[in-house]
Amino acid sequence: MSKYWSKQVHQLHPYVPGEQPKIANLVKLNTNESPYGPSPKVLQLLRDELVERGDDLRLYPDPTSQSLVHTIAQYHGLQDNQVFVGNGSDEVLAHAFNAFFIQTKPLLFPDISYSFYPVYCGLYGIDYRAVPLAEDFSIEAADYREAGGVILPNPNAPTGMLLSLAEIEELLQANRQCVVIIDEAYVNFGGQSAASLIDRYDNLLVVQTLSKSRALAGMRVGFALGHADLIDGLVRVKDSFNSYPVDRLAQLAAQASFEDEAHFQVSCQAVIRDRELLVAALAERGFHVLPSSANFVFAAHASKAAADIAVGLRAQGVIVRHFNKPRIDNFLRITIGTPEQNTALLAALDRLVD
Ligand SMILES: *Cc1c(COP(=O)(O)O)cnc(C)c1O
Repeated sequence: MSKYWSKQVHQLHPYVPGEQPKIANLVKLNTNESPYGPSPKVLQLLRDELVERGDDLRLYPDPTSQSLVHTIAQYHGLQDNQVFVGNGSDEVLAHAFNAFFIQTKPLLFPDISYSFYPVYCGLYGIDYRAVPLAEDFSIEAADYREAGGVILPNPNAPTGMLLSLAEIEELLQANRQCVVIIDEAYVNFGGQSAASLIDRYDNLLVVQTLSKSRALAGMRVGFALGHADLIDGLVRVKDSFNSYPVDRLAQLAAQASFEDEAHFQVSCQAVIRDRELLVAALAERGFHVLPSSANFVFAAHASKAAADIAVGLRAQGVIVRHFNKPRIDNFLRITIGTPEQNTALLAALDRLVD
């Protein structure tokens, strides 16, 4: 607290990111990063760039990330003017809140969802209403109508549960008057992207990230897909905030990632396969696991409190995420690790629950 803070800063409730502890041999299953590295082609390109053109770092990067935008547009079968890239999807989302949701009617999002959404509302003074999930933690598309805006992750976080494309379309049809953002941070682990609906819904913005399925969380690249007018709105906000959000190396790395489809597919498939193994192993150990289409599972134990399990795991060098919030305080969100990490998690659990 400082007497120099503005009134607004006093009133902020900042997001609390999962920790990044500097502990050797940690089994880190708390922030949904990829357990596999980025494509070797990404790493080689970065090395070559530094060796051959390292001096170029004195120059500003392309403010429009044009080459990366083009690569992403091609990948998704869209035009370049339907793509916006930013410094992680968190930044893309922040610009989208600023561009589309400062409205007279409230923004709607699920009550159990990505906890950054209410934080952006606080930052930009956006009125919102958190819509309760159904008893089984699913999103009821019909609950979202006549909004000033809608945002939801698909699959949802931290539940991992997926809405079908038909349900997304139902939601879009009920909300033609406002922008609907589908935050697809985890879509590559079993979901279907709503990007295919963009040409039919000019109010749809799809947001994706390279942080999870493309193993580039450390590079900070995310992007939005949507009608050219929505993308234009994002560009206007970006150029009123930071013209160079994506650095030279990040632009190159992101582009190279899209050029190695094989590495991407193999890593996603490995995560999906190991998720199903982990779900079964957790069920055997007395956990109720929500159906996940993400690179994490959300699980509650029948008798042992989640907070205690999290502490017990940490003491054994395994970290998972626990949210101390109503309705989900007995759940743990566990990122799918490598087979070795998942085995270590289960061995640690076996010392805690029976
Ligand atoms: C991880 C995550 C993001 C943020 O991703 P970055 O691109 O790393 O900023 C956005 N939305 C959801 C739901 C996430 O889980």
